[in-house]
Amino acid sequence: MALQEKAADQRVSQHDVTSLAPVAALLGFDPVQFVKKMETEEQEDRAKMQKGFNSEMRSEAKRLKTFVTYDSFSSWTPQEMAAAGFYFTGIKSGVQCFCCSLVLFCNALKRLPIEDHKEFSPHCEFLLGTDVGNIAKYDIRVKNPESGVRGGKAKYQEEKARLETFQDWPFYAHGTSPRELSAAGFVFTVEFIEAQRV
Ligand SMILES: [Zn+2]
Repeated sequence: MALQEKAADQRVSQHDVTSLAPVAALLGFDPVQFVKKMETEEQEDRAKMQKGFNSEMRSEAKRLKTFVTYDSFSSWTPQEMAAAGFYFTGIKSGVQCFCCSLVLFCNALKRLPIEDHKEFSPHCEFLLGTDVGNIAKYDIRVKNPESGVRGGKAKYQEEKARLETFQDWPFYAHGTSPRELSAAGFVFTVEFIEAQRV
């Protein structure tokens, strides 16, 4: 997927060194060098992290839970982080987007997580509102078993017919094979709203 390849070589600079130059004389050491060194280390840490779409972290509630052990000195809240697609990686202060795999280090975050996400990864499909399988915290999926299978069950007695229902099987579910599911008797029930003639 193009999305994942793009994420692999991300260079993100969260630090604004130009604002530090005047401070150098006051501090007695060069903050620009200090920040550059920090940035190099962050880049190395970024390289160690998993790249690409992280299906495991599609759930906002699950992302939120990763912040349980996180000591925050920032203005953002774990709720804002999780809603913006981020989970805590456990490596320094690094948080990562489940969709575009952007890594941010929270000690350098000055704005809301969602704003930095937009700036450093404007093409993230989660931000653009594409269906990437995000499960929002308040998503409650209720299913009525009576109307679950369109056209009735008789239509899907044959495995081939069941397999055909998986045509729109979402990409984030590809870990589960439609072939195995249809062989086991499952059909894919499309969840979007359909127009019905009365
Ligand atoms: Zn993203």
